[in-house]
Amino acid sequence: MSAPSPRSAPVAGSAHELNKLNKRLRRQVGQAIADFGMIEEGDKVMVCLSGGKDSYTMLDILRQLQVKAPVRFELVAVNLDQKQPNFPEHVLPEYLEGIAQPFHILEQDTYSVVKRVVPEGKTMCSLCSRMRRGALYAYAAENGFTKIALGHHRDDLLATFFLNLFFHAKISGMPPKLQSDDGKHTVIRPLAYVKESDIAAFAEAKGFPIIPCTLCGSQENLQRKVVKRMLEQWEKESPGRLETISRALGDVRPSQLSDRALFDFMALGRHSEAPLPDLHAWMAGAPASEVDVDDDAPAAKPVDALAAIRAKNFDPIWNP
Ligand code: SF4
Repeated sequence: MSAPSPRSAPVAGSAHELNKLNKRLRRQVGQAIADFGMIEEGDKVMVCLSGGKDSYTMLDILRQLQVKAPVRFELVAVNLDQKQPNFPEHVLPEYLEGIAQPFHILEQDTYSVVKRVVPEGKTMCSLCSRMRRGALYAYAAENGFTKIALGHHRDDLLATFFLNLFFHAKISGMPPKLQSDDGKHTVIRPLAYVKESDIAAFAEAKGFPIIPCTLCGSQENLQRKVVKRMLEQWEKESPGRLETISRALGDVRPSQLSDRALFDFMALGRHSEAPLPDLHAWMAGAPASEVDVDDDAPAAKPVDALAAIRAKNFDPIWNP
């Protein structure tokens, strides 16, 4: 479930300001859809709706784009009722019926399972979000959905990038579009370019019937909170920094990093095609006579960066 809004930039209460914000969101979502080929003719898109500000905003903007889109696609809002205590079951159906949005409410008591398995006082979000993902993916497969839309926004992408950097020593994040490991699902994140404060302001101005995400009594992952605070501080001290980092995620230069799987540093500056000796042994001090040179070794294959990236796929840090 999406986290509570840390703050929302005021929309100044005027229709003009709301209209400007709405246009900006539409443009940014449209840009992300186009940049990553998120939607195509005939798609059946499952819009995952948690009842938080992010997913309401995603649905609203996708519906606006659908009206004018050059391709026909279907949008179905799907909510997973996880049976949390006091979950207001009527809120989403009433809202969705009110806007004539096709929807489905899935029911699965993941709450009891998570409560039983996770020790008291530990955060439940990791297991809870995995179970939610499992239920939603299964429903998508059974019902012929071609895309699964999640409401993660730019600041979620940035936080995940820094969490992976700080705690997994990896340059990796939360991509705007990805395929599940079994290849059965394509997940899209249409809000990938949208900043959280804009979403918060939009949700407030539109008066979406937000369902609080504190029903489960869990705390957001502590590390994620720390990283989010760090990002907020950066933005306060240097406005625009987060946008700069966000742009950088789309402009990676493997030759300017140090990943040997993504760039063929070995081939740089070579003046012969002879195989290289075992330079590691050589540098470790082995006498030249003991350093292997395999004259029959096949010439090194050129680096296949795409295959290397795929091979490096790892289970990213969760995000509720
Ligand atoms: S446990 Fe975490 S992910 Fe699950 S509903 Fe609660 S806040 Fe959301």
